[in-house]
Amino acid sequence: MRTQVGIIGAGPSGLLLSQLLHLRGIETVVLEKHSREYVLGRIRAGVLEHSFAALMREAQVGERLDREGQIHEGFFIAHDGIKERVDLRGLTGGKSVIVYGQTELTRDLYEARDRFGGVVMHNAEDVRPHDVDGPQPYLTCRVGGEVVRIDCDYIVGCDGFHGVSRQSIPKDKIRVFERDYPFGWLGVLSRTKPVSPELIYATHERGFALCSLRSEALSRYYIQVPFTDSVDDWSDEEFFEELRRRLPGDVSSALITGPSIEKSIAPLRSFVVEPMRFGNLFLAGDAAHIVPPTGARGLNTAASDIYYLYHALVDHYSKWDNRGLETYSQRALARVWKGQRFSWWMTMLLHRFPDSSPFDRRLQETELAYLFSSEEALASLAENYVGQPF
Ligand SMILES: Cc1cc2nc3c(=O)[nH]c(=O)nc-3n(C[C@H](O)[C@H](O)[C@H](O)COP(=O)(O)OP(=O)(O)OC[C@H]3O[C@@H](n4cnc5c(N)ncnc54)[C@H](O)[C@@H]3O)c2cc1C
Repeated sequence: MRTQVGIIGAGPSGLLLSQLLHLRGIETVVLEKHSREYVLGRIRAGVLEHSFAALMREAQVGERLDREGQIHEGFFIAHDGIKERVDLRGLTGGKSVIVYGQTELTRDLYEARDRFGGVVMHNAEDVRPHDVDGPQPYLTCRVGGEVVRIDCDYIVGCDGFHGVSRQSIPKDKIRVFERDYPFGWLGVLSRTKPVSPELIYATHERGFALCSLRSEALSRYYIQVPFTDSVDDWSDEEFFEELRRRLPGDVSSALITGPSIEKSIAPLRSFVVEPMRFGNLFLAGDAAHIVPPTGARGLNTAASDIYYLYHALVDHYSKWDNRGLETYSQRALARVWKGQRFSWWMTMLLHRFPDSSPFDRRLQETELAYLFSSEEALASLAENYVGQPF
């Protein structure tokens, strides 16, 4: 089999790139390790930048997002028993974010790939990129026991943090920058009315908590837990009891609880690989970088990678102009690092670190006090939260 761009991974990055390229007449094949049901069962991001929504519209998949996505013009930071609002709209000259679940966005992308006759091969085992530093790269995998070979011009690794793409690059050709945090986020999804129409990020001596939502009837709550905890350590009752303890009194008394329909723990990690290209293999999204979810940057940064790569590939095929491909890594990384800085800052501001000293605690308290006493500091937070232009 032959295609122009072989894509590994059918997460949001891989599906979006495939759909955008298809609309510009560029052929793709997407290889996904898991089944479609598995991919659609993952509950992850929920806060999207408007630039992401614009890219979804360009891909002709923005209709439901525009109809059902909720515009959020602010969020709260709760501390010391009170909650203070960050007025995104007022601080950024009218900007906001959109709350729309990653699961729904992936479903929209799948439906579009079906509608346009896109090729997405599921349950592709042992996917491997070959000869990526030569002029004729190819992919191999096994699907239903059959060995499949796909010759392509370019390979794009959109296979997430644990994927094969980054691991196939010789270690001396890339540089890794990383930081692990000594905790994770235990998340619960429940079919209950959200406690607040806007997100509440809470910092408390027992640890961080987040009250988020997916719709008016679907709540997503998180608490910081030690990275050694597992989901089985927490019953629904224990989870909500702990969440209540970390929220201001008026919020915890208004919290409506219900059985979890999904419960998972996400480890917190900062990770970047440089460069994001090796020969004819390009990395995009979580395959190249991971952020702690505190700043809601992961999926949004994946979208900016796709934006740069999509335009670079269109320029290559339509005008034989390779400048976009040549500068892809540099351009993508410039935005990646801004997202890294912001996510790290939000994480340091709002979490409890087991090894923090009294000095560290005072600095955290002072950072919060400074934030809510300075319009400029709040404006910087808001500018980063709504996302910088691609
Ligand atoms: C709790 C949590 C909350 C988050 N909240 C936000 C938020 O509010 N806003 C935000 O912007 N981001 C958020 N994120 C981050 C966001 O979910 C990720 O950045 C996003 O999923 C990245 O998309 P991707 O397509 O690059 O990678 P993925 O979604 O990881 O997709 C990779 C795909 O590749 C497949 N794959 C893996 N290995 C192989 C292989 N060897 N062969 C073939 N296929 C393979 C996988 O099965 C998967 O389908 C959050 C993440 C978590 C965990």
